[in-house]
Amino acid sequence: MPHISTGDIFRAHLSDATEFAKQIRPYMESGALVPDTLTIAIVEERLKRPDCRDGYVLDGFPRSVAQAQALERMTASHGHAIDAAIDLRVPDDELVARLGARRTCAGCGTIYNLKFNPPQGGGMRCDRNGCGGQLVQRPDDNEDTIRQRLIIYHKTTGPLYAFYRERGILHIVRGDVPPEAVFATVEDIVCGLEVA
Ligand code: AMP
Repeated sequence: MPHISTGDIFRAHLSDATEFAKQIRPYMESGALVPDTLTIAIVEERLKRPDCRDGYVLDGFPRSVAQAQALERMTASHGHAIDAAIDLRVPDDELVARLGARRTCAGCGTIYNLKFNPPQGGGMRCDRNGCGGQLVQRPDDNEDTIRQRLIIYHKTTGPLYAFYRERGILHIVRGDVPPEAVFATVEDIVCGLEVA
C-alpha cells in the first residue's frame, strides 16, 4: 500500500529544483502551509496512479478543511472513501524536542533522532545496510519554524478533528509513548477496519 507524504513530495520538488519548487519553497522554509490549490492538485494527480487502486496511506494530508473536502470529492469520484483518520497526539513541547533532534540520511532518507534513535556508533553517518550517508537537518526543523508550524497546525489543521469525528472515522492515538506502542495501536486500528 503506497505511503503518500505531501511533505516528501514537496521536498523531492525542492531537491530536483523543478518549476513547482519555486512556488512552494517560501512557504516550506517559513513553516507555512503550501496553498490548498497547489497541494490538492499534487494529491489528486498522485491518487490517480494505478498503485492507489487498492488503497493508500496519506501522511500530512489533509491539513485544512478545504483539503479534506477536496479529498472527499476525489475519493467519491473514484468510487471509494477514506476508512480511517488517525490523529497522533503529542504535546507541543515534546514535538519541539523531537523535531529539533531529527536528522535524515542524505543518501537513503532514513530518519534518525539524535536523542531517541541515534545511529549506532554515535557519528553523524547513516548505519543502515552500510549506507554511510551524511545525516542532515531539515531546514524547517529549527525551533522558530517548528513553533510556527505548530501554531498553524492548531489553527488550520485542528478543525479536522471535528470534521472526521462527525464522519465517525476518527481515531485518536497517543504519540508520546514508545514507537513500538504507537505502531501496535495503529496496527490494531488498521487491521480492525471493515473495508468495502
Ligand atoms: P511535513 O514533512 O509533513 O512536516 O511537511 C513539511 C512542509 O511541507 C510543511 O511545513 C508545509 O510547508 C508543507 N506541507 C506538507 N503537507 C502539506 C499540506 N497537506 N498542506 C500544505 N502544506 C503542506
